[in-house]
Amino acid sequence: MMLELLKSASLLEASIFFLLANLGIFAASVAFCWFLGIAFRHRRIFDRWEPLRGIELAAAFSAIVLNAAVSVAGWKLWTMGHITLHASGIGRAILDCGVMTLFMDLGMYFFHRVVHHPRLYRLFHRFHHRHESTNPISLFVLHPLEVIGFGSLMIVFLAAYPMSVPGLMAYLALNVLFGTLGHSGVEPFPERLRSIPVLGLIGTSTFHAEHHEHPRYNFGFYTLVWDKLFGTLDPEYEARFSGAARGAQDR
Ligand SMILES: [Zn+2]
Ligand SMILES: [Zn+2]
Repeated sequence: MMLELLKSASLLEASIFFLLANLGIFAASVAFCWFLGIAFRHRRIFDRWEPLRGIELAAAFSAIVLNAAVSVAGWKLWTMGHITLHASGIGRAILDCGVMTLFMDLGMYFFHRVVHHPRLYRLFHRFHHRHESTNPISLFVLHPLEVIGFGSLMIVFLAAYPMSVPGLMAYLALNVLFGTLGHSGVEPFPERLRSIPVLGLIGTSTFHAEHHEHPRYNFGFYTLVWDKLFGTLDPEYEARFSGAARGAQDR
């Protein structure tokens, strides 16, 4: 089985595995972003994507390598027994995925607000905010400390919570999915999402795109829960989301 193979792998084998896995995640995210841009071209949030620049490609490559390094650190802690993973049925997997998503959303909300403090912003987070609009690699254009911070938060959670393997896989897939959606510049979610209980709290593409335009608002990633609770949801959010979902943006 894959997990047993991974557990008995050498450090070099695990490093190669996680580097390839993270390269694959990057490629899948970029390809999916291009697909979204074409499939939902009538529901644009921004007029166009920002052009790709060399420094951003370099930052994205460093994020891939650092994500792989964090994965190897998590793998090492797992092989040493500090992180426990177990098999589970679908019910437990959904519960675990929900718990991890809400925990990570709260943790990232908190750290995201902290790095918007003017001093820290200049040092770390300004790079991700180089543009008001985004492009298919924006998700990976992060300061190295942001990449390590995100990975460390995930490791802290996994060290404290006995996570099921399918729950973890589902969370990792959701993380890339939401990161890609938030930087795609288009709004694939239907307008009626807003009025559906619980689903209306999903962090849509418009939600994170607005953060790039108005960095005082929308610090969460997967949900609107923490921004609503702490009063930082962009007052224009509902109108912008509806407009983008209807394909009626006037920008
Ligand atoms: Zn962003
Ligand atoms: Zn930000």
